[in-house]
Amino acid sequence: MSETLEDATVAEARQMAADADRVVVKAGTNSLTDEESNLDDEKLDKLVDDIQSLLKRDKEVILVSSGAIGAGTGRIEGSTGTVEESQALSTVGQSHLMHRYTESFGRYDRKVAQLLLTQHDLENPERFTNFRNTVETLLDWGVVPILNENDAVATEEIRIGDNDMLSAAATMGVDGDLLVTLTDVGGVYTGNPKEDGHAERIEAVGANYDTVQEIVTESTSDEFGGIQTKIEGARDVSEHGIPAVIARSTEPDILEKIATAKPVGTIFVPINGVSDD
Ligand code: GLU
Repeated sequence: MSETLEDATVAEARQMAADADRVVVKAGTNSLTDEESNLDDEKLDKLVDDIQSLLKRDKEVILVSSGAIGAGTGRIEGSTGTVEESQALSTVGQSHLMHRYTESFGRYDRKVAQLLLTQHDLENPERFTNFRNTVETLLDWGVVPILNENDAVATEEIRIGDNDMLSAAATMGVDGDLLVTLTDVGGVYTGNPKEDGHAERIEAVGANYDTVQEIVTESTSDEFGGIQTKIEGARDVSEHGIPAVIARSTEPDILEKIATAKPVGTIFVPINGVSDD
């Protein structure tokens, strides 16, 4: 289902996504951990394999990875999930996560770097410039920057909120050409696909945004970090002329499919038109 969007517009946006030189990939906690909240080596390696398929095409990739609190939860017995504990869990999980990314990218002789950010860092021009410069230098070196919110220090006032917003801000801030949000559902649906067998995937979002938003608001009770924030993040990015795709992390070769303009997930068509270049 693609609502009112014309096939040609959608195809053009898919091609724009395929041609992106600088790609921001966001992976959620479910895409990295198992049911017991342990970091899932297979899922993580699969994500890294997918990213490698983009790097092999000479694209630059910036990864926004969640999973710190999730991975920490699996390592500390008896945590109760208070805010203070979640902050502490994030520090346990984050170092474990980076250890695994270092190993997994090492299979391809690739180095990684960790960047932990808060809202302050995104709002303060000087800090933001420093962040941009660091990312540029890492990319010049062929290192894969891996971003997450600095949960250890992020209190309510300085929280970015969730990584869907961080990845959207990062995409616009570092002049990304594409945002890919990987999640445990295959995109935006007309209902909750986990509960409703008739829910259909919405192939593209653009001029039909309000209709899609209505359908989604009616069909989901998710709040923090659910499909709503993924849609908001993708919408923000597409309003800046950058395509965004929400897709299923477990789909084989998902990033390769996007890089070859295959019709996977839900694509957010750049609102101010697809550029000519
Ligand atoms: N920064 C959180 C973590 O790494 C992620 C929040 C989210 O799921 O978006 O656990």
